Amino acid sequence: MDIETIREQFPILHQEVNGAPLVYLDNGATSQKPKAVIEAMERYYKEYNSNIHRGVHTLGTLATDAYEGAREKVRRFINAGSTEEVIFTRGTTTALNTVAYSYGRANLKEGDEVVITPMEHHANLIPWQQACKATGATLKYIPLQSDGTIDLDDVRKTVTPRTKIVAMAHASNVLGTINPVKEVAKIAHENGAVMVVDGAQSAPHMKIDVRDLDCDFYAFSSHKMAGPTGIGVLYGKKALLENMEPFETGGEMIDFVDLYDSTWKELPWKFEAGTMPIAEAVGLASAIDFLTEVGLENIHVHETELARYALELLSDIDGIEIYGPMENRVGIVTFNLKGVHAHDLSTILDTMGIAVRAGHHCCQPLMRWLGVSATARASFYLYNTKAEVEKLADGIRKAKEYFGDVL
Ligand code: PMP
Repeated sequence: MDIETIREQFPILHQEVNGAPLVYLDNGATSQKPKAVIEAMERYYKEYNSNIHRGVHTLGTLATDAYEGAREKVRRFINAGSTEEVIFTRGTTTALNTVAYSYGRANLKEGDEVVITPMEHHANLIPWQQACKATGATLKYIPLQSDGTIDLDDVRKTVTPRTKIVAMAHASNVLGTINPVKEVAKIAHENGAVMVVDGAQSAPHMKIDVRDLDCDFYAFSSHKMAGPTGIGVLYGKKALLENMEPFETGGEMIDFVDLYDSTWKELPWKFEAGTMPIAEAVGLASAIDFLTEVGLENIHVHETELARYALELLSDIDGIEIYGPMENRVGIVTFNLKGVHAHDLSTILDTMGIAVRAGHHCCQPLMRWLGVSATARASFYLYNTKAEVEKLADGIRKAKEYFGDVL
């Protein structure tokens, strides 16, 4: 991977923030966008903006072809068997809510169990709390090991024939842990449960093959993978999607509407009510082309190396605490400096042009498990460099000096 050539593609990276070159290490929250994506969306608005699936006029046909072409690109990107299994949503959150409402509420009852982990993002936690409350089902947690991983023996103990749904992040947005979702899916299926994977932090960073994982549902967001905000994907197995009622109803998703009853379009449009994010689908397709050309395997290797380097440099700083496993992880490094609140640390880093995230990262139960109210988090993407990791380590050292000897 030629990082300099890649960086050239991202206009936003070439600026100073607070008098220093921007070091953007908040990719777990959202990634930056290459010129190709920005230009593809601009071309859409300048040349063929039109609503889809409706008009028979030329621009409408061009827009429809681009939108459905994006679906085919997504299908290939995750190796789904058919475009009927690829549903566009607003993002991971809406995709997971679609499963929790349309599948969860229809298939759960008292005595059933939903199994998740304490490392879930609120988007893969609250929808299950709500589904359990609405149906009388019980929410159960697979315990975490001290290094922030899960043990398959614990999965075997927690998932039982009463389990109807197992939902889990493929990669944790705080700990960086890569969960063994393929093995967990096998255990779920042996017990008659479906497997839901939150792929928000995995799809942008590693090659995903939903058929190899054999998950039943897989959710991810475009904005974390070099694409625009406002669009994401729900993959679902056709046999399950066919038997689900739509999450939203209204225009476009219908077949026949009568005064007191209606029928739905076939898959995948049954789940796409109203005017969809068309320009965003065009942008997502362009992002997929970009990532595919660089190669997801190369991206994963590069980010793993940056994380390894960051763990090495940061571990050398006195008073730093780093969370999560040391191996088998994505490019996310979460830490605290003893005696300094994560928000103060990130504010000081910002004065040096270094953007990291601080807070609970939408994982409040995990923060309680870690025994902290907040952490700082550096998260890498394909355009980050080792020099930027060094700047982060230097920045943390300077912040430590600034706050005095707090140890
Ligand atoms: N799950 C995980 C693991 C995430 O990191 C995020 C975003 N931080 C989400 C779900 C929610 O994604 P979105 O806000 O794009 O819906």
